[in-house]
Order: sequence, then C-alpha cells, then structure tokens
Amino acid sequence: MAALLELEGVEAGYGPVQALFGVGFDLHEGEVVALMGRNGMGKTTTVRTICRLIAHRAGRLRFAGHDLAGVPIHRAARLGLGLVPEGRRCFAPLTVAENLAVAARPGPWTQARVHALFPRLAERTGQRAQTLSGGEQQMLAIARALLTNPRLLILDEATEGLAPVVRAEIWAAIRTLKAEGMSILIVDKSLAELRAIADRAVILERGRAVWTGAPGALDEGTIARHLGV
Ligand code: ATP
Repeated sequence: MAALLELEGVEAGYGPVQALFGVGFDLHEGEVVALMGRNGMGKTTTVRTICRLIAHRAGRLRFAGHDLAGVPIHRAARLGLGLVPEGRRCFAPLTVAENLAVAARPGPWTQARVHALFPRLAERTGQRAQTLSGGEQQMLAIARALLTNPRLLILDEATEGLAPVVRAEIWAAIRTLKAEGMSILIVDKSLAELRAIADRAVILERGRAVWTGAPGALDEGTIARHLGV
C-alpha cells in the first residue's frame, strides 16, 4: 500500500540559509510518526515544508497521491493536511465557537465531537480565545485542525510550555485520536510520551533524517548521540 505521506531527499530553507539537506521518511494511513531531534535540527522546517508554508528546493514530497510541489498553501488544507502549528495560534479576538466555525469543513469531525474530546472547550464556547489558558488555547488549536477534517494531523510542539496536568490531557486526547485511526505526525520533546504513542520515530540531525525505527528500538547510545543535550 502506498504511503499517505512520502518525503525523499527534501531540501529547504530560508533565503540563503539552508535548513533541510535531505529529509526522507514516510507515514502510512493510521500511523503515528514522531519527528525527533535536538533544537534547530529542522523539525519545524520539515513540518512547514509539508504544509507548503515554505517551498522545497530539491527532493520529492507526496501526500495522498499528490505531488506537493504543485500545491499552493491554500490547497494544502483542502488536500487533508491539518496543521497544529508551534505556538498554538488561534484568532485571539474571536470566541471559541467562532474559532471553530471558521476552521470547519464538512466531514466526520463536528463541533460536538471536538467538544467530546475536549470538554473544557464546550464550557468556554462564548469566551474569547485570548482569555483562555495556554492549555485551553492548545486544545482549541487541535480542535480547529480536527474540524478541517484532515487525513493527516500534524502536531508541532503541542505540549510545549504547558503544566503537567494539562499536558496529560493533551496526550490523552492524542491517544484517543490514534485509537480512532487518525494518521499523525508529531513533534515533541517528551521522549517518554513519544515512545509510548509513536509507531515509528524519525530523528533529524542538521537537516537530515539520520535514524528511523520503532521507538522501542531507540537505545541509550542513539538517544545520547542524537537527542541528548
Ligand atoms: P526547535 O526544536 O528549536 O523548534 P527545529 O528542529 O524545529 O528546532 P527548525 O526550526 O526547523 O528546527 O530550524 C532549522 C534551522 O533553520 C535552524 O538552523 C534555524 O536557525 C533555521 N531557521 C528556522 N527558521 C528560520 C527563519 N525563519 N529564518 C532563517 N533561518 C531559520
């Protein structure tokens, strides 16, 4: 079966700064793949390239049978790429309900379903996004991405800077999504959580994918070499 997402030799960067020097991995339908690596190794750039926020200079990206080279940013969501960006961006002056309404596209994910996943959002439906806690904003950002009815949910640092109890809620929601068969690409710093949830891990080092395998196969040597501080 063809992969849902395929990257091969992807190079990308920012003006004269090259950040990706050959990233290759794939993700199959229903899989959870963790994109790992130290700070500045290219995780966010890889996510941005997949979602067409930046163009690649070389290599191949395919998603759901489409070559992403020809896909402009406004079509990425329509193709089924649902991004939860780093920094949990929501529309600050809009209410929770309005934030959800502007994201919604037809499909199995409805407001009722995201309210069931995140009951706190249901309680705060009339509240402006800017008055939510960091954790609630993150829940809203995930809910917005789900309401686009994506074929692939991409979470970039979804638990960063949150209190442990809120992080636990976000991880529980991600586990529920996985159990329901959602395909997920996830960037996070929490090795223990990623090991528990990911089917496969891809480690980036200086813009290259240097290790791919089952997270259970991540030995202490590999962790120290590629992920240690
Ligand atoms: P972090 O965990 O710190 O977010 P990361 O693995 O996601 O790190 P990227 O943000 O993809 O790493 O950064 C990869 C490289 O690209 C780094 O060298 C970084 O300095 C550079 N970079 C990232 N964003 C920009 C930008 N807007 N302009 C120029 N260089 C950038």
